[in-house]
Amino acid sequence: MRESETGEWKKQLSECYRSVADFPVDFELSLTEEDYFKKESDRFRISVPKNYFGLAFSDADDPIRRQFMPQAGEHITLSCETDDPLGENSYKVTERLIHRYPDRVLFLASDTCAMYCRHCFRRDYLSTDPPPLTRKEIHRAAEYLRSHLEVKEIIISGGDPLIMDNSKLDELLSIFKESRPDIVFRMASRMPVVLPSRITDSLTDLLSKYKPLFFITQYNHPRELTDKSRQAVSLLVNKGIPVFNQAVLLKSVNDSVDVLAELFQELLRCSVKPYYLFQGDLAAGTSHLRVPITKGLELMKELRSRISGLALPIFAVDLPGGGGKVPLTESYIQEITETAVVFKDRNERIYSYPVES
Ligand code: SF4
Repeated sequence: MRESETGEWKKQLSECYRSVADFPVDFELSLTEEDYFKKESDRFRISVPKNYFGLAFSDADDPIRRQFMPQAGEHITLSCETDDPLGENSYKVTERLIHRYPDRVLFLASDTCAMYCRHCFRRDYLSTDPPPLTRKEIHRAAEYLRSHLEVKEIIISGGDPLIMDNSKLDELLSIFKESRPDIVFRMASRMPVVLPSRITDSLTDLLSKYKPLFFITQYNHPRELTDKSRQAVSLLVNKGIPVFNQAVLLKSVNDSVDVLAELFQELLRCSVKPYYLFQGDLAAGTSHLRVPITKGLELMKELRSRISGLALPIFAVDLPGGGGKVPLTESYIQEITETAVVFKDRNERIYSYPVES
């Protein structure tokens, strides 16, 4: 049973569409997709699992298709865009370890993904074809953890770390756990969305050994919550692994209140906590997918009046150039006087709360 599960995801991974030539013969490119391929660059490769491809409609503006199909906009680099929009390179403390916030680090465990999301902020890093992860790199990161006790959490990211098979993943987690038995893990992976067969009983058994471990995934549209994807999430949840979602606000994918409300409410029904909604990062070639930040604020304002606090994620932006993550909120505070804090509610009514009570 477990052997065949393992075989299944690897087979599906090997069968991903990786170029236009792989697509079914009746798949027609839109004008903007054609324009991209006319001027093809090797900048950011293509990969899409067949099951995810099957969710897309033929319309070029389909929200699923826009996430895996390159468009002409990828050839445009705005002056505000860079190859390292979060300034991660300047925070590297070993080849694969990024230490930007005082209490947590991020480990780049893998340089590949089952699907290459066109909005990815690490698209440049993933295009550089770094050499595969080595045991030495893991031990150097473990050594850093051992000597930096202020670090309390490690985010295992990439690329997609679940592209590794279970034995490699087990080795990686065990080395970190050995160096710091008190460490809290976050596993960041889009596999439940794009290749749900990767989430097997054997994987969840493995992850369970390293609790406390939090699983962070990225659903951007309610249609991604297929039966198989929901089953994958429930395997994690049923093993007592908390699952959080970090969506990205994307133009013509999820930039509407109805779509976001449905996404967040459905995630909750699957026991997945909507954690963040990210403003698109200023990664080179992604402007056609970004939503104006002011529109994001408007969407959040409306969502706040429509869905529960539990379903509502934090809208946040990673400040360009390494400033870190900051929440984006419309302030309800109008004024702070010596005696009161004055608020305006969502219906523009004024209230005050005493400073000392
Ligand atoms: S799975 Fe994550 S790392 Fe990979 S391309 Fe998508 S967003 Fe980027």
